[in-house]
Amino acid sequence: MWFFETLYPDLKIGVKGDIIHEEKTPFQDMKIYHTSRYGKVLTLDGVIQTTQKDEFIYHEMLTHPLLLSHPKPQNVLIIGAGDGGILREVLKHKVKKVTLVEIDQAVIEVSKKHLATINKGSFNDKRAKIVVGDGAKFVKNTKEKFDVIVVDSTDPIGPAKVLFSENFYLDIYRILTKNGLMIRQTGSATLQLTTLKNSTKTLKKVFPIVRTQIIAVPTYIGGFFSLTIGSKTIDTAKVTQKAINQRYAKLKLKTKYYNPDIHFACTKLPNYIGEELR
Ligand code: SAM
Repeated sequence: MWFFETLYPDLKIGVKGDIIHEEKTPFQDMKIYHTSRYGKVLTLDGVIQTTQKDEFIYHEMLTHPLLLSHPKPQNVLIIGAGDGGILREVLKHKVKKVTLVEIDQAVIEVSKKHLATINKGSFNDKRAKIVVGDGAKFVKNTKEKFDVIVVDSTDPIGPAKVLFSENFYLDIYRILTKNGLMIRQTGSATLQLTTLKNSTKTLKKVFPIVRTQIIAVPTYIGGFFSLTIGSKTIDTAKVTQKAINQRYAKLKLKTKYYNPDIHFACTKLPNYIGEELR
């Protein structure tokens, strides 16, 4: 059957496949499709979250630029990301502990079963601590400090709306260590430019350094897709290329999209995006 994403009321792009799991969780309507073009596809409330075919682009680019820019990331927090893709990439680094806070346990369970090629057993890693709960409440109440925080949430509707607010970013700032950095997805730089502009504006109120990365993910329609970084002291675009080359080589990182050149190239913005964000 055909799946048409319902993210935009006036735009429909579809993919043909078979539904292999369907569930109304306490938070959202979840489905897994099996498609020949993208492999398995996870949808929540009618919006594609991740696909086996191109998940690596998004997951690598939400993690390695920060974890390699920080000289010694040890304690990492992930919010959302129940499919386990971000966790898999973070665990490639020499981190001591990774806490993943996902509001919907059903997403984790279904991903373990159907998207094992994405999470690759990372939920069982000794360094991983899985918390089922609201990310906004977690950052308000935790006494821990984190070197890197990755927010991999759904769009600013439903349970994820709170994860785009200034108060949420203020809590994130407070629980980051001295040289800490955070990153989140901020939508298509063309079709969701308002989301990107609003997120940038809000992040600039809280963080002295804000950087936009652009990536191309076929399933996130609308050309360039944006990821935005908020940082206390480290500018990922101004770390030396030598440092990034050395850290990448030392870890023997195996990546399919990220490399030390892309690290810098993804921060160079086309005029129509750069001018809007300035
Ligand atoms: N890559 C996807 C995208 O581009 O939209 C996001 C994937 S990930 C599966 C998103 C997860 O964020 C969902 O599983 C959802 O349950 C979770 N989430 C939404 N709101 C949340 C909140 N307030 N706290 C923690 N997790 C939340």
